[in-house]
Amino acid sequence: MNIKKDFPIFKTHPELVYLDSGATSLKPQPVIDAIGAYYSRYSANIHRGLYTISEKASAEYEETRSVVASFINAPSPNEIIFTRGTTEGINLVASTVGIDANDAIDPDAEIVTTVMEHHANFVPWQQLAFNTGADFKVIDIGNNYELKNKTESVTINLSNSITKRTKIFALTLVSNTLGTINPVKEIIVAAKKINPAIITVVDAAQAVPHLAIDVQDLGCDFLAFSAHKMLGPTGVGVLWGRKELLDAMPPYQFGGDMINEVSLEKTTYAKVPHRFEAGTPHIAGVIGLKTAIIYLKQVGLNTIAKHEHALASYAIDQLKQTFGDQIRIIGPTDMKQRTGIVSFTFDTIHAHDVSQILDENNIAVRAGHHCTMPLHTRLGIGASTRASFYLYNTKEDVEKLVRGLKKVKKVFSK
Ligand code: PMP
Repeated sequence: MNIKKDFPIFKTHPELVYLDSGATSLKPQPVIDAIGAYYSRYSANIHRGLYTISEKASAEYEETRSVVASFINAPSPNEIIFTRGTTEGINLVASTVGIDANDAIDPDAEIVTTVMEHHANFVPWQQLAFNTGADFKVIDIGNNYELKNKTESVTINLSNSITKRTKIFALTLVSNTLGTINPVKEIIVAAKKINPAIITVVDAAQAVPHLAIDVQDLGCDFLAFSAHKMLGPTGVGVLWGRKELLDAMPPYQFGGDMINEVSLEKTTYAKVPHRFEAGTPHIAGVIGLKTAIIYLKQVGLNTIAKHEHALASYAIDQLKQTFGDQIRIIGPTDMKQRTGIVSFTFDTIHAHDVSQILDENNIAVRAGHHCTMPLHTRLGIGASTRASFYLYNTKEDVEKLVRGLKKVKKVFSK
């Protein structure tokens, strides 16, 4: 698969080996063009103008809702809420779910998450627990970097973690550090068996760009992701939620576009999804997301998943073969359980040094804790280096990474 030609950044930087798609993906020309077309041809506000270019902008924006709904097999476009990203989607749920007095999250409740979460799916829940007095429980990982409960490494035996008191269970579909693909469908079935009223929130930031997602098949209640990790622009994301839950949630923010009627005495709110989209949204970004989805569908998510998988597999083999015990790959050994994310620690060399020397060789990787500090603490490491592969990467990129790491070793053996 050689589609680098569609990504203009490689024209500006032909030598660039971009291995940081886990942080944000590169953008293909059609997405850049779609954003430019909005600004140059019909740059009007949506939902309010009764003139041609505003109607065109509204139509494009609302069409994206349908394209997203069909992409993740949501029952209705009205369950798609545009946000600023995964972080805002999760915060929206954490700020509004269970506010209702009959079903409030209180000191008797439990909020459960996992130690492999990105801070975006950890801190909002920890904070909600602080604010409400609810218990905050964190599911550990097993020896193979998979989810486990306290006594068993069987992923779907959650009886020590989920109880009748658990109100929220927030977990990631794919870990942004480990690359682990969690069997979320089975986990949710098991959790709902213990407590049918549990609300499940899935962080799909690292899943939707890489794997075909079907929210109805997953059986979750909420799912959040970001456009910028799936070839789309920054500042746009999606929250999908079950209609009956969304309908019961109060607004997250107040202002224009989310109201039904405003008087001196009171305000009534618009229906979902508009109730959760206060103010002028990132119109160009939402339209760019539509083009990104069309592009991803044209290439094919299964083709993309296979390609990344082959690259990650090749990278792990090459790294192990070349550096043996000097490299510790952090992530499942079973390739079927992982995506194209390959994190590692390298000898005693700090990840920031690794990344800096790789950068001198035009190789972009991530270094640090990747917004997963609890996971790094659990693994007993302060930082790691992460190479993440996407559809535009090649075998040559892997080979350049290995050569780059050899140079890193050389610098530190002087
Ligand atoms: N969850 C995961 C698993 C992520 O990888 C990221 C982005 N690194 C986020 C949440 C947060 O996404 P955003 O910054 O786009 O809100």
